[in-house]
Amino acid sequence: MVLSDPQGRQFRYLRLSVTDVCNFRCSYCLPQGYKKCQSKPELSVAEISRLLRAFSLLSFKKLRLTGGEPTLRSDLAEIIREASLGGFQVGLTTNGYRLNEKIRAYKDSGLSLLNLSLDSLNPTRFKEITGKNEFVNLQKGLDTALSLGLQKIKINTVFLKGLNDQEFPQFLEYIKCRPISLRFIELMPTGQNKDFFLQHHARSEVLIEQLLKNGWHESSRETEAGPAQEYQHEDFKGKIGFISPYAKNFCAQCNRLRVSARGDLRLCLFGKGEVSLRSFLQDDADLPELVEFIQNTLSLKPVSHSLHTGDYGDMQTLSAYGG
Ligand code: SAM
Ligand code: SF4
Repeated sequence: MVLSDPQGRQFRYLRLSVTDVCNFRCSYCLPQGYKKCQSKPELSVAEISRLLRAFSLLSFKKLRLTGGEPTLRSDLAEIIREASLGGFQVGLTTNGYRLNEKIRAYKDSGLSLLNLSLDSLNPTRFKEITGKNEFVNLQKGLDTALSLGLQKIKINTVFLKGLNDQEFPQFLEYIKCRPISLRFIELMPTGQNKDFFLQHHARSEVLIEQLLKNGWHESSRETEAGPAQEYQHEDFKGKIGFISPYAKNFCAQCNRLRVSARGDLRLCLFGKGEVSLRSFLQDDADLPELVEFIQNTLSLKPVSHSLHTGDYGDMQTLSAYGG
């Protein structure tokens, strides 16, 4: 049973936020830092386990754990193990703060895909963007992760005009000898970053033009690939991908659903509202109902976001849904 929507898009990839809490203050996400505004507790491991069983019955194969900062959850290794034993290929998106300390335990629990957010290769600028003086710690964590032979390591870099756009050559140099997939993500507008967005948003086409002129070529798309467009070059061990939400056909490639740390299903990152799955997560006996509920809800998934018209839905900060 594969989950599909009225547009014929098929969904097999779940992004689950396991916490809203974050210890960084990225200027485009939580510039004032995390402020508690939810009274409901985060999903427990038992609730997550039921949620994953339902998505597994819907043929979901890939899970990305995100946040807030997922590594702040002390039971993250347990969640990874549950997911991995449930047949998921498990990925983690992290700011890297605890990477060096925890990555071995996560790998031993079944983690195979890692996305590390790294917005600058300059320690001072890194601190300016994230509010944290953690550049050296992140590099150690990344080196440890590289030594463990995970299936795939990606770096997420939000492309920021006037902040890190001049670092493109350094980023290229960085992946020359490292087998890393570098993702340049276009800055996305949210309720909390309006002025920052106006000041720092830039389209990534200019970078793609530079790559094509310098011998890079587009990689063939994997069947389960999401909306990123990826490029490679024979002299580089790493690859470069672009996530460009304003690009034509971006939403046509959508293959993912998102669930918040409190069990709310969000059909589109830049849509409005969400539906709570939590009441179905209290008892194994409710699984068939949950599966049916998710299937029915998919008919409400919007064909596309409306970012082109300046409408980003009711998204206040991506930290609530893990990006
Ligand atoms: N805290 C973890 C981290 O930073 O990797 C996971 C959550 S974070 C919300 C997931 C990804 O979303 C990060 O790579 C972050 O850079 C990206 N992100 C957050 N806000 C964004 C925005 N407004 N536009 C583009 N990317 C954003
Ligand atoms: Fe925290 Fe990630 Fe948002 Fe940065 S991007 S503030 S690390 S949730």
